[in-house]
Amino acid sequence: MGDLKLNHSVENGSVSRLNPLDHEEFRRQGHMMIDFIADYFQNIEIYPVRSQVKPGYLRERLPESAPLNPEPIETILKDVQKDIIPGITHWQSPNFFAYFQSNGSIANFLGEMLCTGFNTVGFNWIASPAATELESIVMDWLGKMLKLPSSFLFSGGGGGVIHASTCEAFLCTLTAIREKKLSIIGRENLDKLVVYCSDQTHFSLKKSVQIAGISPENFRPIVTAKSNSFQLCPESLRLAIILDLEAGLVPLYLCCTVGTTSSTAVDPLGPLCDVAQEYGIWVHVDAAYAGGACICPEFRHFLDGVEGANSFSFNAHKWFLTTLDCCCLWVKDPSALTNALSTNPEILNNQATESKQVVDYKDWQMALSRRFRALKLWLVLRSYGVARLRDFIRGHVKMAKHFEWLLAGDKRFEVVFPRNFAMVCFRVSPSVIPNDEDVNEFNRNLLESINASGGAYMVHAVVGGVYVIRLAVGATLTEYRHVNNAFKLVQDHANALLCTF
Ligand SMILES: *Cc1c(COP(=O)(O)O)cnc(C)c1O
Repeated sequence: MGDLKLNHSVENGSVSRLNPLDHEEFRRQGHMMIDFIADYFQNIEIYPVRSQVKPGYLRERLPESAPLNPEPIETILKDVQKDIIPGITHWQSPNFFAYFQSNGSIANFLGEMLCTGFNTVGFNWIASPAATELESIVMDWLGKMLKLPSSFLFSGGGGGVIHASTCEAFLCTLTAIREKKLSIIGRENLDKLVVYCSDQTHFSLKKSVQIAGISPENFRPIVTAKSNSFQLCPESLRLAIILDLEAGLVPLYLCCTVGTTSSTAVDPLGPLCDVAQEYGIWVHVDAAYAGGACICPEFRHFLDGVEGANSFSFNAHKWFLTTLDCCCLWVKDPSALTNALSTNPEILNNQATESKQVVDYKDWQMALSRRFRALKLWLVLRSYGVARLRDFIRGHVKMAKHFEWLLAGDKRFEVVFPRNFAMVCFRVSPSVIPNDEDVNEFNRNLLESINASGGAYMVHAVVGGVYVIRLAVGATLTEYRHVNNAFKLVQDHANALLCTF
């Protein structure tokens, strides 16, 4: 059998070698790849979730330089199985509970295939009108699903764009307001601009601040406290702003978070926006993880107050059945973005742009070239509909609740922070840890022992000095039995460390 297949590809070799887009060869190899991936999904549970290779493992296995002559796909796929899969940490595994998941779906997959098939480079409208128009439509659809105020939608004077990452959304909105502010106060005042956030804000804001040329000394992560569920307190914000004004600085930008990475804390958007508005500060709401959940009426209240913000983003590539990369960003004032990010080279001049009737998304993002990402979101929204997307999110939340319930049945564990979505932060309680052992250290060892087993993958966070194990339910393939297994694994490894068998 194997030989026959090989002969076939050798016979056709002359054709396929001449034409890298030969449609019959594409059909043959494409089906083979789909079969390979389907087998991968079917067998995914046999692999250790967190890759167990050592740094540099791949260099020992692969040749030192690229092949001179073509190799058949059969051989390459064998090497994927043999050399690449061992170095994969299996994000699509039902036993993946680490970070925040990036959950895929068939609809997304097919959308990605279409995107790659067309392989358009839709920097402006004329470069592929459908790419731009579908993106605008899908962003309006999504905005309505989230009940964003109409001022964020194209139909209401705002608009949405798909970025590669939240980091990019931070950087572009930060640049938009930086340019606007400097045009008023003078470019020589760049060093005076101040950016506010909480000490729970995602670390990529700091990176964006660095790239945007804001002085690192003017990056203000405001301290939060457990007593306040690690929310950014509006009064602390006001205090920081007043101190900066007294020092002659210029408040510029505030990032609020709905669903922080460490503990899924939710900042009080309304009161924070009120304070920011008094001082003319741009407010960005980062709901990278939790935003998608707000299509469920029971979670929408977490976005209350978003109407006071200038921009809002969430990552469909976390909890929305859409794979990396797909960060959805809405702004109320697109001209703030385009004023800061436009370029008008002669080669891109065209009548549509001149007519000002179209969106040219190159002016809404960092890069010039852009993929037709809207296709995958469109396929996801159509294939599952709002109803199934809600069910899917609710399913994960129920499983997280179930995990909490399991923990509650074993007095040695404690849930450390209140659960808002589908992530549980827990640890072995200090009361059962032998006196001479450090609580944080004990839990660190427990987590490493769980992850080294390969049976599940979770990561930790340190919030308010407390080391917690985070269990984020959200992989597409996760079912109750996987959550039960994860709990059993936690118990078994805790037993071993506590020497209670
Ligand atoms: C994951 C996450 C980010 C970073 O998202 P990228 O798309 O990887 O830049 C930002 N904020 C929060 C709250 C997150 O959970």
